[in-house]
Amino acid sequence: MSSLKAYKYRLYPNKKQAEKLQWVLNRCRELYNSALQERRDAYEMMVKRHPNYYDEATRKHLTHEYALSYNQQATQLPEVKETRLEYNDIHSQVLQDVLRRMDKAFKAFFRRVKEGKAPGYPRFQGYGRYDSFTYPQSGFSLTEDNRVCLSKIGTIKVKMPTGKKANPPQGTMKTCTIKREGQHWFIVFTCEVEQDIVYHLSLEAVGIDLGLLHFATLSDGSTIENPRHVRTSEHKLKKLQEALARKKRGSKRRRKAAQRVGKAHRYIRNQRKDFHHKRARKLVTAYQVIVFEKLQPANMSRRPKPRQDEATGHYLPNGASAKAGLNKSILDAGWGQFQQICKNKAECAGSRVLFVSPKYTSQMCSGCGAIVQKELEERWHQCSCGYSLDRDHNAAINILRLGLQAREKESRARTERSEDAPLRSPAIHG
Ligand SMILES: [Zn+2]
Repeated sequence: MSSLKAYKYRLYPNKKQAEKLQWVLNRCRELYNSALQERRDAYEMMVKRHPNYYDEATRKHLTHEYALSYNQQATQLPEVKETRLEYNDIHSQVLQDVLRRMDKAFKAFFRRVKEGKAPGYPRFQGYGRYDSFTYPQSGFSLTEDNRVCLSKIGTIKVKMPTGKKANPPQGTMKTCTIKREGQHWFIVFTCEVEQDIVYHLSLEAVGIDLGLLHFATLSDGSTIENPRHVRTSEHKLKKLQEALARKKRGSKRRRKAAQRVGKAHRYIRNQRKDFHHKRARKLVTAYQVIVFEKLQPANMSRRPKPRQDEATGHYLPNGASAKAGLNKSILDAGWGQFQQICKNKAECAGSRVLFVSPKYTSQMCSGCGAIVQKELEERWHQCSCGYSLDRDHNAAINILRLGLQAREKESRARTERSEDAPLRSPAIHG
Protein backbone atom coordinates (compact mmCIF):
# COMPACT_ATOMS: atom_id res chain seq x y z
CA MET A 1 0.00 0.00 0.00
CA SER A 2 1.45 3.37 -0.93
CA SER A 3 0.20 6.88 -0.40
CA LEU A 4 1.20 10.43 -1.27
CA LYS A 5 2.54 12.65 1.47
CA ALA A 6 3.39 16.33 1.26
CA TYR A 7 6.36 17.94 3.00
CA LYS A 8 6.45 21.70 3.27
CA TYR A 9 9.49 23.79 4.22
CA ARG A 10 10.31 27.46 4.31
CA LEU A 11 12.66 28.74 1.62
CA TYR A 12 15.16 31.51 2.23
CA PRO A 13 16.02 32.99 -1.17
CA ASN A 14 18.36 35.98 -1.26
CA LYS A 15 17.03 39.17 -2.80
CA LYS A 16 18.05 38.27 -6.32
CA GLN A 17 16.65 34.76 -6.04
CA ALA A 18 13.36 36.04 -4.66
CA GLU A 19 13.10 38.33 -7.66
CA LYS A 20 13.78 35.41 -9.94
CA LEU A 21 11.12 33.26 -8.24
CA GLN A 22 8.61 36.07 -8.61
CA TRP A 23 9.65 36.50 -12.22
CA VAL A 24 8.98 32.81 -12.95
CA LEU A 25 5.66 33.11 -11.17
CA ASN A 26 4.74 36.11 -13.30
CA ARG A 27 5.66 34.31 -16.54
CA CYS A 28 3.63 31.26 -15.46
CA ARG A 29 0.65 33.42 -14.66
CA GLU A 30 0.98 35.13 -18.01
CA LEU A 31 1.06 31.78 -19.77
CA TYR A 32 -1.94 30.59 -17.78
CA ASN A 33 -3.93 33.66 -18.71
CA SER A 34 -3.03 33.41 -22.41
CA ALA A 35 -3.95 29.74 -22.43
CA LEU A 36 -7.28 30.67 -20.91
CA GLN A 37 -7.74 33.44 -23.46
CA GLU A 38 -7.06 30.98 -26.26
CA ARG A 39 -9.68 28.58 -24.94
CA ARG A 40 -12.19 31.38 -24.56
CA ASP A 41 -11.51 32.63 -28.07
CA ALA A 42 -11.93 29.16 -29.51
CA TYR A 43 -15.29 28.89 -27.79
CA GLU A 44 -16.32 32.37 -28.92
CA MET A 45 -15.38 31.75 -32.57
CA MET A 46 -16.49 28.20 -33.10
CA VAL A 47 -19.41 27.79 -30.71
CA LYS A 48 -20.92 31.10 -29.75
CA ARG A 49 -20.95 32.50 -33.29
CA HIS A 50 -22.39 29.34 -34.77
CA PRO A 51 -25.85 29.95 -36.28
CA ASN A 52 -27.33 27.06 -34.31
CA TYR A 53 -25.82 28.12 -30.99
CA TYR A 54 -29.21 28.19 -29.27
CA ASP A 55 -29.91 24.59 -30.12
CA GLU A 56 -28.73 22.72 -27.07
CA ALA A 57 -27.62 19.55 -28.84
CA THR A 58 -25.63 21.46 -31.45
CA ARG A 59 -24.08 23.65 -28.80
CA LYS A 60 -23.01 20.65 -26.76
CA HIS A 61 -21.61 18.96 -29.82
CA LEU A 62 -19.66 22.06 -30.89
CA THR A 63 -18.35 22.70 -27.39
CA HIS A 64 -17.03 19.18 -27.30
CA GLU A 65 -15.68 19.32 -30.86
CA TYR A 66 -13.76 22.56 -30.47
CA ALA A 67 -12.66 22.41 -26.86
CA LEU A 68 -8.90 22.77 -26.79
CA SER A 69 -7.04 19.96 -25.12
CA TYR A 70 -3.90 19.97 -23.04
CA ASN A 71 -1.96 18.43 -25.92
CA GLN A 72 -3.12 21.04 -28.40
CA GLN A 73 -1.91 23.78 -26.12
CA ALA A 74 1.29 22.06 -25.09
CA THR A 75 2.46 21.55 -28.69
CA GLN A 76 2.51 25.32 -29.03
CA LEU A 77 5.09 25.78 -26.29
CA PRO A 78 8.12 25.61 -28.65
CA GLU A 79 6.52 28.32 -30.74
CA VAL A 80 5.98 30.46 -27.67
CA LYS A 81 9.64 30.07 -26.82
CA GLU A 82 10.68 31.26 -30.30
CA THR A 83 8.79 34.51 -30.08
CA ARG A 84 9.20 35.07 -26.36
CA LEU A 85 12.81 34.15 -25.73
CA GLU A 86 12.56 34.65 -21.97
CA TYR A 87 10.43 31.50 -21.71
CA ASN A 88 13.57 29.53 -22.52
CA ASP A 89 14.75 30.49 -19.04
CA ILE A 90 12.03 28.40 -17.41
CA HIS A 91 12.17 24.63 -17.06
CA SER A 92 9.93 23.21 -19.78
CA GLN A 93 8.06 20.87 -17.42
CA VAL A 94 7.15 23.83 -15.25
CA LEU A 95 5.48 25.41 -18.27
CA GLN A 96 3.73 22.17 -19.14
CA ASP A 97 2.42 22.03 -15.62
CA VAL A 98 0.86 25.49 -16.05
CA LEU A 99 -1.11 24.17 -19.02
CA ARG A 100 -2.05 21.06 -17.11
CA ARG A 101 -3.50 23.22 -14.34
CA MET A 102 -5.52 25.02 -16.98
CA ASP A 103 -6.75 21.69 -18.29
CA LYS A 104 -7.72 20.59 -14.80
CA ALA A 105 -9.66 23.80 -14.23
CA PHE A 106 -11.66 23.16 -17.40
CA LYS A 107 -12.25 19.50 -16.68
CA ALA A 108 -13.59 20.46 -13.24
CA PHE A 109 -15.75 23.10 -14.89
CA PHE A 110 -17.25 20.63 -17.39
CA ARG A 111 -17.76 18.02 -14.71
CA ARG A 112 -19.74 20.47 -12.63
CA VAL A 113 -21.81 21.47 -15.67
CA LYS A 114 -22.58 17.81 -16.25
CA GLU A 115 -23.58 17.33 -12.62
CA GLY A 116 -26.03 20.18 -13.02
CA LYS A 117 -24.25 22.38 -10.49
CA ALA A 118 -23.61 26.08 -11.04
CA PRO A 119 -19.96 26.13 -12.01
CA GLY A 120 -17.68 29.14 -12.16
CA TYR A 121 -15.94 29.53 -15.50
CA PRO A 122 -12.15 29.29 -15.07
CA ARG A 123 -10.90 32.73 -14.14
CA PHE A 124 -8.06 34.96 -15.20
CA GLN A 125 -5.50 35.02 -12.44
CA GLY A 126 -4.33 38.25 -10.84
CA TYR A 127 -1.02 38.85 -9.11
CA GLY A 128 -2.31 37.79 -5.72
CA ARG A 129 -4.15 34.68 -6.84
CA TYR A 130 -1.51 32.84 -8.81
CA ASP A 131 1.01 31.94 -6.16
CA SER A 132 2.81 28.74 -7.09
CA PHE A 133 4.56 26.79 -9.81
CA THR A 134 5.46 23.11 -9.97
CA TYR A 135 8.22 20.85 -11.21
CA PRO A 136 6.03 17.81 -11.94
CA GLN A 137 8.82 15.23 -12.40
CA SER A 138 12.38 16.45 -12.43
CA GLY A 139 14.53 19.55 -12.35
CA PHE A 140 14.83 19.75 -8.59
CA SER A 141 16.89 18.16 -5.87
CA LEU A 142 17.59 18.52 -2.17
CA THR A 143 21.25 18.70 -1.15
CA GLU A 144 22.89 17.50 2.04
CA ASP A 145 23.59 21.02 3.28
CA ASN A 146 19.93 22.09 3.30
CA ARG A 147 19.72 23.70 -0.07
CA VAL A 148 17.49 22.94 -2.97
CA CYS A 149 18.66 23.05 -6.56
CA LEU A 150 16.00 24.27 -8.94
CA SER A 151 16.67 23.92 -12.63
CA LYS A 152 17.08 27.30 -14.37
CA ILE A 153 16.70 29.14 -11.06
CA GLY A 154 19.61 28.18 -8.84
CA THR A 155 20.41 26.89 -5.40
CA ILE A 156 18.28 28.24 -2.57
CA LYS A 157 18.57 27.82 1.17
CA VAL A 158 15.80 25.77 2.72
CA LYS A 159 15.01 25.43 6.40
CA MET A 160 14.79 21.81 7.46
CA PRO A 161 13.54 21.45 11.03
CA THR A 162 15.92 19.49 13.25
CA GLY A 163 15.69 17.66 16.55
CA LYS A 164 12.23 16.79 17.77
CA LYS A 165 10.56 18.65 14.94
CA ALA A 166 12.65 17.01 12.23
CA ASN A 167 10.48 15.90 9.35
CA PRO A 168 12.67 15.06 6.37
CA PRO A 169 10.94 13.91 3.17
CA GLN A 170 10.47 10.15 2.97
CA GLY A 171 9.83 7.75 0.13
CA THR A 172 10.17 8.71 -3.52
CA MET A 173 9.97 12.38 -4.40
CA LYS A 174 7.39 12.93 -7.09
CA THR A 175 6.79 16.65 -7.50
CA CYS A 176 8.15 19.91 -6.17
CA THR A 177 6.09 23.07 -5.84
CA ILE A 178 7.37 26.56 -5.06
CA LYS A 179 4.77 28.65 -3.31
CA ARG A 180 4.58 32.25 -2.22
CA GLU A 181 2.52 33.14 0.86
CA GLY A 182 2.53 36.87 1.38
CA GLN A 183 6.21 37.83 1.49
CA HIS A 184 7.43 34.31 2.26
CA TRP A 185 8.42 31.46 0.01
CA PHE A 186 7.87 27.77 0.65
CA ILE A 187 8.72 24.53 -1.04
CA VAL A 188 6.41 21.51 -1.03
CA PHE A 189 7.60 18.04 -2.00
CA THR A 190 5.04 15.35 -2.63
CA CYS A 191 6.46 11.92 -2.00
CA GLU A 192 5.18 8.43 -2.54
CA VAL A 193 5.50 6.54 0.71
CA GLU A 194 5.19 2.79 1.04
CA GLN A 195 3.16 1.63 4.01
CA ASP A 196 2.54 -1.67 5.69
CA ILE A 197 -0.99 -2.55 6.65
CA VAL A 198 -1.38 -1.77 10.34
CA TYR A 199 -3.79 -3.26 12.85
CA HIS A 200 -5.05 -1.07 15.62
CA LEU A 201 -4.37 -2.14 19.19
CA SER A 202 -7.63 -0.89 20.63
CA LEU A 203 -11.21 -1.84 19.80
CA GLU A 204 -12.68 1.35 21.20
CA ALA A 205 -14.98 3.56 19.17
CA VAL A 206 -15.87 7.20 19.70
CA GLY A 207 -18.48 9.62 18.35
CA ILE A 208 -17.44 13.24 17.98
CA ASP A 209 -19.63 16.32 17.83
CA LEU A 210 -17.80 19.37 16.49
CA GLY A 211 -19.13 22.64 17.77
CA LEU A 212 -18.67 26.30 18.47
CA LEU A 213 -18.76 26.26 22.25
CA HIS A 214 -16.31 23.40 22.56
CA PHE A 215 -14.14 22.49 19.63
CA ALA A 216 -15.29 18.89 20.06
CA THR A 217 -17.44 16.86 22.44
CA LEU A 218 -16.76 13.13 22.65
CA SER A 219 -19.33 10.42 23.28
CA ASP A 220 -17.67 9.67 26.64
CA GLY A 221 -18.62 13.18 27.71
CA SER A 222 -15.15 14.70 27.58
CA THR A 223 -14.46 17.80 25.49
CA ILE A 224 -11.62 19.22 23.42
CA GLU A 225 -11.31 22.97 23.76
CA ASN A 226 -9.94 25.45 21.27
CA PRO A 227 -6.48 26.36 22.54
CA ARG A 228 -6.16 29.76 24.16
CA HIS A 229 -3.36 30.95 21.85
CA VAL A 230 -5.60 30.48 18.83
CA ARG A 231 -8.33 32.53 20.47
CA THR A 232 -5.84 35.28 21.31
CA SER A 233 -4.67 35.52 17.73
CA GLU A 234 -8.24 35.45 16.49
CA HIS A 235 -8.94 38.46 18.64
CA LYS A 236 -5.87 40.18 17.22
CA LEU A 237 -7.01 39.38 13.69
CA LYS A 238 -10.38 40.91 14.38
CA LYS A 239 -8.72 44.14 15.52
CA LEU A 240 -6.51 44.21 12.42
CA GLN A 241 -9.52 43.67 10.23
CA GLU A 242 -11.34 46.56 11.82
CA ALA A 243 -8.28 48.73 11.29
CA LEU A 244 -8.23 47.72 7.63
CA ALA A 245 -11.87 48.67 7.21
CA ARG A 246 -11.09 52.21 8.40
CA LYS A 247 -8.33 52.82 5.83
CA LYS A 248 -9.08 54.71 2.63
CA ARG A 249 -9.40 52.61 -0.51
CA GLY A 250 -6.33 52.62 -2.71
CA SER A 251 -4.14 54.20 -0.04
CA LYS A 252 -0.70 52.99 0.91
CA ARG A 253 -1.80 52.57 4.53
CA ARG A 254 -4.61 50.32 3.39
CA ARG A 255 -2.22 48.12 1.47
CA LYS A 256 -0.02 47.82 4.54
CA ALA A 257 -3.02 47.00 6.71
CA ALA A 258 -4.16 44.36 4.22
CA GLN A 259 -0.72 42.77 4.37
CA ARG A 260 -0.95 42.64 8.15
CA VAL A 261 -4.38 40.99 7.94
CA GLY A 262 -3.05 38.42 5.47
CA LYS A 263 -0.13 37.67 7.74
CA ALA A 264 -2.38 37.23 10.78
CA HIS A 265 -4.64 34.92 8.76
CA ARG A 266 -1.75 32.70 7.78
CA TYR A 267 -0.48 32.68 11.34
CA ILE A 268 -3.82 31.49 12.68
CA ARG A 269 -4.13 28.92 9.91
CA ASN A 270 -0.81 27.42 10.91
CA GLN A 271 -1.58 27.52 14.61
CA ARG A 272 -4.87 25.79 14.03
CA LYS A 273 -3.40 23.19 11.72
CA ASP A 274 -0.82 22.38 14.34
CA PHE A 275 -3.56 21.96 16.95
CA HIS A 276 -5.57 19.74 14.57
CA HIS A 277 -2.60 17.51 13.90
CA LYS A 278 -1.91 17.04 17.61
CA ARG A 279 -5.51 16.26 18.55
CA ALA A 280 -6.01 14.00 15.54
CA ARG A 281 -2.92 12.00 16.45
CA LYS A 282 -4.27 11.43 19.97
CA LEU A 283 -7.65 10.32 18.64
CA VAL A 284 -6.39 7.82 16.09
CA THR A 285 -4.05 6.33 18.67
CA ALA A 286 -6.79 5.91 21.25
CA TYR A 287 -9.69 4.74 19.09
CA GLN A 288 -10.10 2.15 16.39
CA VAL A 289 -13.28 3.76 15.08
CA ILE A 290 -13.96 7.49 14.98
CA VAL A 291 -17.38 8.73 13.90
CA PHE A 292 -18.11 12.27 12.73
CA GLU A 293 -21.12 14.04 11.33
CA LYS A 294 -20.98 14.85 7.65
CA LEU A 295 -20.46 18.58 7.37
CA GLN A 296 -23.04 20.54 5.44
CA PRO A 297 -21.38 23.53 3.84
CA ALA A 298 -24.66 25.15 2.93
CA ASN A 299 -26.06 25.40 6.47
CA MET A 300 -22.80 26.00 8.18
CA SER A 301 -22.23 29.51 6.99
CA ARG A 302 -25.38 31.40 7.75
CA ARG A 303 -24.61 34.10 5.27
CA PRO A 304 -26.87 35.82 2.76
CA LYS A 305 -26.37 34.80 -0.85
CA PRO A 306 -24.31 37.21 -2.95
CA ARG A 307 -26.42 39.51 -5.08
CA GLN A 308 -25.35 40.30 -8.59
CA ASP A 309 -26.08 43.53 -10.42
CA GLU A 310 -28.10 42.49 -13.48
CA ALA A 311 -26.66 45.15 -15.77
CA THR A 312 -22.97 44.95 -14.95
CA GLY A 313 -22.62 41.53 -13.37
CA HIS A 314 -20.74 43.07 -10.43
CA TYR A 315 -21.49 41.86 -6.96
CA LEU A 316 -23.46 44.19 -4.74
CA PRO A 317 -23.10 44.59 -1.01
CA ASN A 318 -25.66 42.18 0.38
CA GLY A 319 -25.82 43.09 4.03
CA ALA A 320 -23.62 40.23 5.09
CA SER A 321 -21.28 41.89 7.51
CA ALA A 322 -17.57 41.30 7.48
CA LYS A 323 -18.24 39.46 10.72
CA ALA A 324 -20.11 36.72 8.89
CA GLY A 325 -17.11 36.24 6.66
CA LEU A 326 -14.79 36.25 9.62
CA ASN A 327 -16.96 33.79 11.48
CA LYS A 328 -16.96 31.52 8.53
CA SER A 329 -13.24 31.55 8.05
CA ILE A 330 -12.45 31.24 11.73
CA LEU A 331 -14.98 28.77 12.98
CA ASP A 332 -16.15 26.59 10.14
CA ALA A 333 -13.02 26.28 8.08
CA GLY A 334 -11.37 24.27 10.80
CA TRP A 335 -13.78 21.37 10.97
CA GLY A 336 -13.37 20.03 7.46
CA GLN A 337 -9.63 20.22 7.80
CA PHE A 338 -9.71 18.44 11.14
CA GLN A 339 -11.81 15.60 9.73
CA GLN A 340 -9.49 15.29 6.76
CA ILE A 341 -6.42 15.17 8.98
CA CYS A 342 -8.05 12.49 11.16
CA LYS A 343 -8.84 10.50 8.04
CA ASN A 344 -5.28 10.69 6.75
CA LYS A 345 -3.78 9.75 10.08
CA ALA A 346 -6.27 6.92 10.57
CA GLU A 347 -5.04 5.27 7.39
CA CYS A 348 -1.55 4.99 8.80
CA ALA A 349 -2.69 4.00 12.28
CA GLY A 350 -5.05 1.23 11.20
CA SER A 351 -8.14 2.97 12.53
CA ARG A 352 -11.22 4.07 10.63
CA VAL A 353 -13.07 7.35 10.30
CA LEU A 354 -16.80 7.11 9.53
CA PHE A 355 -19.27 9.81 8.63
CA VAL A 356 -22.96 9.81 9.47
CA SER A 357 -25.86 12.05 8.56
CA PRO A 358 -26.29 14.95 10.98
CA LYS A 359 -30.08 14.59 10.84
CA TYR A 360 -31.64 14.57 14.35
CA THR A 361 -28.33 13.90 16.08
CA SER A 362 -28.87 16.78 18.48
CA GLN A 363 -32.68 16.45 18.75
CA MET A 364 -32.91 12.73 19.36
CA CYS A 365 -32.60 11.37 22.88
CA SER A 366 -29.62 9.04 23.13
CA GLY A 367 -31.42 7.12 25.88
CA CYS A 368 -34.82 6.29 24.39
CA GLY A 369 -34.78 7.59 20.80
CA ALA A 370 -37.54 10.16 21.33
CA ILE A 371 -37.24 13.46 19.51
CA VAL A 372 -36.75 16.31 21.97
CA GLN A 373 -36.98 19.60 20.08
CA LYS A 374 -34.58 22.28 21.20
CA GLU A 375 -33.42 25.66 20.04
CA LEU A 376 -29.82 26.29 19.08
CA GLU A 377 -29.11 28.13 22.33
CA GLU A 378 -30.50 25.36 24.57
CA ARG A 379 -27.40 23.69 25.90
CA TRP A 380 -29.01 20.89 27.88
CA HIS A 381 -30.85 17.74 26.78
CA GLN A 382 -33.65 16.77 29.14
CA CYS A 383 -35.94 13.90 28.22
CA SER A 384 -39.07 12.54 29.86
CA CYS A 385 -37.37 9.13 29.98
CA GLY A 386 -35.08 10.55 32.63
CA TYR A 387 -32.06 11.18 30.43
CA SER A 388 -30.46 14.49 31.26
CA LEU A 389 -27.11 15.51 29.83
CA ASP A 390 -25.20 18.14 27.89
CA ARG A 391 -26.63 18.78 24.45
CA ASP A 392 -23.37 18.07 22.60
CA HIS A 393 -22.65 14.99 24.69
CA ASN A 394 -26.07 13.65 23.71
CA ALA A 395 -25.31 14.36 20.05
CA ALA A 396 -21.92 12.65 20.25
CA ILE A 397 -23.55 9.48 21.64
CA ASN A 398 -26.05 9.50 18.77
CA ILE A 399 -23.25 9.99 16.27
CA LEU A 400 -21.38 7.01 17.70
CA ARG A 401 -24.50 4.81 17.60
CA LEU A 402 -25.24 5.73 13.96
CA GLY A 403 -21.64 5.05 13.01
CA LEU A 404 -21.62 1.63 14.64
CA GLN A 405 -24.98 0.75 13.03
CA ALA A 406 -23.63 1.71 9.61
CA ARG A 407 -20.52 -0.35 10.15
CA GLU A 408 -22.50 -3.37 11.24
CA LYS A 409 -24.78 -3.10 8.22
CA GLU A 410 -21.75 -2.92 6.00
CA SER A 411 -20.08 -5.99 7.47
CA ARG A 412 -23.37 -7.92 7.36
CA ALA A 413 -23.72 -7.10 3.66
CA ARG A 414 -20.18 -8.26 3.12
CA THR A 415 -20.68 -11.65 4.78
CA GLU A 416 -23.99 -12.14 2.97
CA ARG A 417 -22.29 -11.51 -0.33
CA SER A 418 -19.54 -14.01 0.37
CA GLU A 419 -22.06 -16.61 1.56
CA ASP A 420 -24.29 -16.13 -1.46
CA ALA A 421 -21.64 -16.31 -4.09
CA PRO A 422 -20.87 -20.04 -4.15
CA LEU A 423 -24.55 -20.98 -3.92
CA ARG A 424 -25.62 -18.93 -6.85
CA SER A 425 -23.43 -20.23 -9.62
CA PRO A 426 -24.49 -23.91 -9.45
CA ALA A 427 -28.11 -22.75 -9.43
CA ILE A 428 -27.64 -21.06 -12.78
CA HIS A 429 -26.04 -24.08 -14.38
CA GLY A 430 -28.48 -26.50 -12.84
ZN1 LIG B 1 -35.28 9.86 26.37
